[in-house]
Amino acid sequence: MAKHTLMKGPNKAVCDVLTQSGRPLGAYEILERVKVKGFNGPPTIYRALDKLIKLGIAHRIASKHAYVLCNHEKPHEHESIIFAICNDCDNVDEIPNKALYNTLHDAKTNKGFRIENEVVEVMGLCKSCSEQKGAC
Ligand SMILES: [Zn+2]
Ligand SMILES: [Zn+2]
Repeated sequence: MAKHTLMKGPNKAVCDVLTQSGRPLGAYEILERVKVKGFNGPPTIYRALDKLIKLGIAHRIASKHAYVLCNHEKPHEHESIIFAICNDCDNVDEIPNKALYNTLHDAKTNKGFRIENEVVEVMGLCKSCSEQKGAC
């Protein structure tokens, strides 16, 4: 079953906005777009975003202060995600990685460091942007 099916209210509105966008959106961009659907107020939007992130439907892109829909059908389990962010078009690609997950978890066991927020983001050029650059 797809993750998105049980959505309603502001959660669904925010989910729809991210689906239609196809690129990362800031909280205020999301706010602007759900306003027309009758949902208002930053707390409502932040609550909806938190919920979508917890459910594995959306991801937060820390370096962009933005949110993007997860492009995987199933929730990520025992894998970390490397976000590959394009400097030119803002496209975000997900690179799930089980080895990284294990490394980070070893850190927790060996170093006693408790990870509360995992941010792994790399910047560069996406395939289509680097192909365009190569052509000129
Ligand atoms: Zn994802
Ligand atoms: Zn690009």
